[in-house]
Amino acid sequence: MTRIYLDYAATTPVAPEVIEAMQPYFQAVSGNPSAIYAEGQQARQAVEGARAACARVINARSDEITFVSGGTEADNMALAGVCRASAKSHPHIITTAIEHHAVLETCHFLEKQGVAVTILQVDGQGFVDPVSVEKALRPDTVLVSVILANNEIGVIQDLAAISRITRPAGVYLHTDAVQAFGRIPVDVQALGVDLLSISAHKLYGPKGIGALYIRKGTRIAPLIWGGGQERGKRSGTENVPGIIGLGKAAELAAADLTAEASRLTLLRDRLIAGVLAGVPGSRLNGHPTRRLPNNANFSFDYVEGESVCLNLDLAGIAASPGSACSSTSTSPSHVLTALGLPPHQAFGSLRLSLGRGTGKAGIDRVMAVLPEVVSRLRAMSPVARQQ
Ligand SMILES: *Cc1c(COP(=O)(O)O)cnc(C)c1O
Repeated sequence: MTRIYLDYAATTPVAPEVIEAMQPYFQAVSGNPSAIYAEGQQARQAVEGARAACARVINARSDEITFVSGGTEADNMALAGVCRASAKSHPHIITTAIEHHAVLETCHFLEKQGVAVTILQVDGQGFVDPVSVEKALRPDTVLVSVILANNEIGVIQDLAAISRITRPAGVYLHTDAVQAFGRIPVDVQALGVDLLSISAHKLYGPKGIGALYIRKGTRIAPLIWGGGQERGKRSGTENVPGIIGLGKAAELAAADLTAEASRLTLLRDRLIAGVLAGVPGSRLNGHPTRRLPNNANFSFDYVEGESVCLNLDLAGIAASPGSACSSTSTSPSHVLTALGLPPHQAFGSLRLSLGRGTGKAGIDRVMAVLPEVVSRLRAMSPVARQQ
C-alpha cells in the first residue's frame, strides 16, 4: 500500500529540480566563496544568485538577505540580535502565545538576561488583535514578533495592520514566515515588516538552511562571530549547496504559488467538510478560511491526538498530533490552549498538512479511515464513557 504523507508542515521532500540545482555545488563548484581565485568566485556568484532569488520572492533587496542555518536560527537572531544591539539596558519585546518554540524559548532565555517580555493572547480563532499590540507598547519596546502563518493551526495574521502600529512608534516588527513562505504571497513591503524568517525544508528545499530578511538600517547584532561572512552578520563558511537549494526552492514555489494554493485550498476544504461531517465530536481549530491553503487542524473529543496518529500510521497515513515539535511532550499544545480549548480537546488534536504530493485519493482515504479510528479509540476511553 502506498503511504499517504500529510505532514508537509513538519517538513517536505526536496523537489527534484532543487536536488539537480544543488548537485554541482558538492563537487564541480566546491570552492570557498570567500576565496579570490576562480573556484571561489564561481561559488560566490552562485550564492549571490540565490540571495537575489530569495530577495525577489519577498520583494526585498539582495543585501537584506542573511543566510542562516534554518528557521530556528533566523528567529533566534531576530529576537536576540535586536535586543543585543539595542542601546536600552532592559529592552522590552512583545510577542504572542501562539509563536513557534524558536520564538518563545528565545524569549524565555532573553527574560533571564533582563529583557522584559509581553506575551499577547489570541482570540478563539487564533487571531492577534492589533489593538492589543498598541496597548502593550512601552517606551522601552524595541521589537514586536508575530508569526505570519501558524505552524499548528495555519491561521494567517494581519501583519500589515500591526505594522501600521509599530512603524510610527519606531518599533521593529519581526515575523516568522517559515510556514507562509512559498504557500501564500509574502511581500515584506506590503507586510511592513523589518525582519522575516524563512526556512528551506518547509518548501521543498533541503534541511539546515534558511534566511533572515533584515530591512536595511535595522540595528541587529550577530549571534555567531568568526570570519565575517554574510557582511559580518553571520560568520561561518556558507552552506553553498544549501543556499543554492533554498534559492531554487523559493523560485519554484513562487512560480507555482497561485495554482498550487487554489488546488490545495479545494482539497483542504473537501477534507474539512468530510471530517466534520464524518466524525462525531470533531471540531476545526482556527479560522475556517483565513488559514494556510494546506492546513487542517482538528480536535476530537476524548481521544488523544497521539493515538489517532499512531492508528493512522498503521493505516498508511502520516500525520501529526498538533505540532511535530511537541510530539515528545506530554502537555497539550500551547497554541490550542491559547485558543481556549479545554485539555480534553487540546490533547485530542490532529494536524493534517497537505502538499505537492497530495491528491483527491489521499484525502478521501483519510475520510474513509478516520471515523472508524476515532470511534474505536473513544470506545476504549474511560473518560468518554463517563460522558
Ligand atoms: C519549522 C518551523 C521553524 C523552525 O525552522 P527550522 O528550519 O526547522 O529550524 C520555525 N518556525 C515555524 C513556524 C516553523 O514551522
